[in-house]
Amino acid sequence: MIKVDKLHKSFGKNEVLHNISVSINKGEVVAVIGPSGSGKSTFLRCLNLLEVPTSGEIEIGGEKVTAPKAKINVIRQNLGMVFQHFHLFPHKTVLQNLTYAPTTVKGLSKAEAEEKAKALLVKVGLSDKANEYPSRLSGGQKQRVAIARALAMNPDVMLFDEPTSALDPEMVKEVLDVMKDLAHTGMTMIIVTHEMGFAREAADRVLFLDGGALVEDAPPAEFFAHPKTQRAQDFLSKML
Ligand code: ADP
Ligand code: MG
Repeated sequence: MIKVDKLHKSFGKNEVLHNISVSINKGEVVAVIGPSGSGKSTFLRCLNLLEVPTSGEIEIGGEKVTAPKAKINVIRQNLGMVFQHFHLFPHKTVLQNLTYAPTTVKGLSKAEAEEKAKALLVKVGLSDKANEYPSRLSGGQKQRVAIARALAMNPDVMLFDEPTSALDPEMVKEVLDVMKDLAHTGMTMIIVTHEMGFAREAADRVLFLDGGALVEDAPPAEFFAHPKTQRAQDFLSKML
């Protein structure tokens, strides 16, 4: 589903991603972990071209994202993205947040988009909030709306950048539970997270980034029990 080959990204003289190569299969759930500043967000943002790679190639669903003539908008439609700080449209209701892109970008009718949106709100446990404005929701509810909004575009891949880091502790579980349900549907997911319990339980693979390099790539059982590198050992000892 995703193939990254020798990806480099620099901001000026600062090389933030160094020679990352990785392939991710359809339906895999991949947790990306590592210290602050290690390049996790930049890696996700390169996948949907929110950042332009300095060199290297990225292919998603057979489409070369990094080709000069790549249809960036079509590729982005296929990648749902969920951010730490939700990024909902504040002046739109929950339902309008979910129907906006499907009607304006995909050309769905209002009725089609609303039917799909309502089904997604049921899935994330928010069917009673369709006509509410985001400011009236808790952080956990906002993030579940953000996930539903991304899913409304029928993406093949979902990218999550620290989706629970801005939440009060009691709201983390409701969001992680929605993500676990989604993982069980066979969605391909890449999740930057500091929730080690979630990574261990829900991920098929852990990618450990440090200093812009992909240092480890292993199943969670192996990574957490026997991190191969000193850098991963040091990181995990600080997390526990
Ligand atoms: P992480 O998500 O792992 O905390 P980031 O990918 O956000 O790390 O950042 C990695 C490095 O890239 C940091 O040193 C950060 O300062 C730098 N960086 C990120 N985005 C930009 C940008 N738009 N311009 C310049 N430097 C950036
Ligand atoms: Mg980050």
